[in-house]
Amino acid sequence: MLAARWHPPSYDIRVENVPVPQIEDPDDAVVKVTLAGLCGSDLHIYRGQQPITKVHITGHEFIGEVVKLGSNYGPNAARSTSGRPNLYATLSVGDKVVAPFTVNCGECHVCRLGYTGRCPVGALFGSPKLDGGQAQYVRVPKAGGTLYNLSSPASWSSALTATSDVETLLENISDSSLLLLSDILPTGVFAATQLLAHPKVQPMLTGRSWPSSLNPSSPTIDLGSGLLTQEDRLLTIAMIGLGPVGVCAAVALLDALVQKGLPYRIVAIDINQSRREKMEKVYEAIGSDGKGQNGEFVVQGLEEAKETVAKWTGDVGCTGVLEVVGNNSALTAAYDLARPFGVITSVGVHAPKNVPFTGQDLYNKNISFDFGRCPARAMFPMAFELLVKRQDVFGKVGTESSLIDRVVDIKQASEMYRAFDQGQVGKVLFDPWDQA
Ligand SMILES: [Zn+2]
Ligand SMILES: [Zn+2]
Repeated sequence: MLAARWHPPSYDIRVENVPVPQIEDPDDAVVKVTLAGLCGSDLHIYRGQQPITKVHITGHEFIGEVVKLGSNYGPNAARSTSGRPNLYATLSVGDKVVAPFTVNCGECHVCRLGYTGRCPVGALFGSPKLDGGQAQYVRVPKAGGTLYNLSSPASWSSALTATSDVETLLENISDSSLLLLSDILPTGVFAATQLLAHPKVQPMLTGRSWPSSLNPSSPTIDLGSGLLTQEDRLLTIAMIGLGPVGVCAAVALLDALVQKGLPYRIVAIDINQSRREKMEKVYEAIGSDGKGQNGEFVVQGLEEAKETVAKWTGDVGCTGVLEVVGNNSALTAAYDLARPFGVITSVGVHAPKNVPFTGQDLYNKNISFDFGRCPARAMFPMAFELLVKRQDVFGKVGTESSLIDRVVDIKQASEMYRAFDQGQVGKVLFDPWDQA
């Protein structure tokens, strides 16, 4: 089969003929890949920023069709008797599936809590530990816990199956759109969800001062100047980094704020002008049901954004900051923009060994930090709902407002990695079967 493979030490992707992966463990599935994504985090390995020497198949974003299942699949694996995830009983050859970017067993303590991105037996696709999906076929370990079965509406969120004509719904969503479920859309939804769920944001959400905001049945504490005003409850949020994940986070955040009926002010920040323009086009393309009438959304460079936040908040700073870059200048900006008792949610993949502030800096501002990888499998139902709802943004390829720039033959992988690394193309998908 054809596969894109990384070769050490850096900047060397080759499309090569390699053996088709086989079932190695009874929990495995083999998936025929219909589309695979190229992602910003692929560049960490590409650039040789990690101490890796093993040649391996790249890519952690893919969608495809199940072609082989290990011996642990079948009706005898029903949850009622096996206690295992339902998919071991229901997954069939021919099913259309999308995988999160990491394997997760779906049955350990960590997975059951929903923290699937850190399953102890997990692995990242497209790493030395596990070959990736930028290939014609990919082996999926623990597939019964990992895969999301797009052919089985019973496994989707109840909100979708209750309100939609499921067949029409699936017919109307392209594979290129569904591929966004593998990483960038769940990661965006995760960032927005994590921020809005933070205890320090609850006074704005509930209209009750902290700590009574944490307990709806407790008496409201009046500190002497009355209860929270509408102005007090206005959320001011900064987003740093407007690459594809940042755009997904913005769409998810806007949707969540509209669902909650909350007024907002959002400043979306990137140093790169073409990314800012993309964000503006996406915001224009979002229907009014996805951004409401009750908010202000501006796209700016960092210095301008600092002035905007100072003006909006009387120099207090942002309630929350989403950091979607993964370097120390972005973290420094996040710290500067956050208010005392502010929350920073960081989903950028961090390469630097240190963070750019001290414990004293954090203490002095009562900053809360959330770092880390999205538990993508756990986020799938929410991400899928947003994908269906926001086809005005996520449904297109190659337009001014689409996240996906183009779909190309996988044979162009080497060239596309180079162009993507140099910022000459946006998000690219590989078609492993386009032998034009
Ligand atoms: Zn990715
Ligand atoms: Zn697990």
